[in-house]
Amino acid sequence: MRILVVEDEPRLLRNLAKALREAGYAVDTAEAGDDGLFKAETNDYDAMVLDVMLPQLDGWEVLARLRKQKRTPVLMLTARDGPKDRVRGLDTGADDYLIKPFDLDELLARLRALIRRSAGQVRPTLSAGDVLIDTRARSVTRAGQPVVLTAREYAILEYLALHRGEVITRTELYEHLFDESDDTLSNLLDVHVFSIRKKLGRELITTRRGQGYCIEP
Ligand code: CA
Repeated sequence: MRILVVEDEPRLLRNLAKALREAGYAVDTAEAGDDGLFKAETNDYDAMVLDVMLPQLDGWEVLARLRKQKRTPVLMLTARDGPKDRVRGLDTGADDYLIKPFDLDELLARLRALIRRSAGQVRPTLSAGDVLIDTRARSVTRAGQPVVLTAREYAILEYLALHRGEVITRTELYEHLFDESDDTLSNLLDVHVFSIRKKLGRELITTRRGQGYCIEP
């Protein structure tokens, strides 16, 4: 899953990006509203964390312009605890909001929920055959036995399972799993998919030649 964080306070931005990467997300960042809007329009993010008070364009303006074209789930960060602010955020098309200062675990939990909801999933556990994926713990079991995946393998599996029944192109996987700071050498999709199949069964992920990968419904 790939997240965009738009926040002009350098320290908070660094800490957020670090925490999100540690939680397994690919993360892009922007420090001003116009740059954030450009990235959000250019890339397909699984979610966006958007500060309200930003230079160039403020968060409201970024959100309003983004909503003319995209449904990317947006979590707003607001410094002011005013009910008017929250109403405005939700009216403009924000999916959720947090008041600064916020608890990092709460931010992570809300992001997970936003991403699940936007994929039409309500429950935090995903399943495919005898494979169970717990998106809270980022853990996987097969027939009840824990299976250890690398961060990359987990990210690929979770994305495919969240979009079960859809054929996901390689381009889409790259877009959603790797951020702008990733080097291309670690991006060997086939190698990761081969390894997932070895651990969880060959039949779990189908290759549709010329199209992409799929976990069958
Ligand atoms: Ca700010």
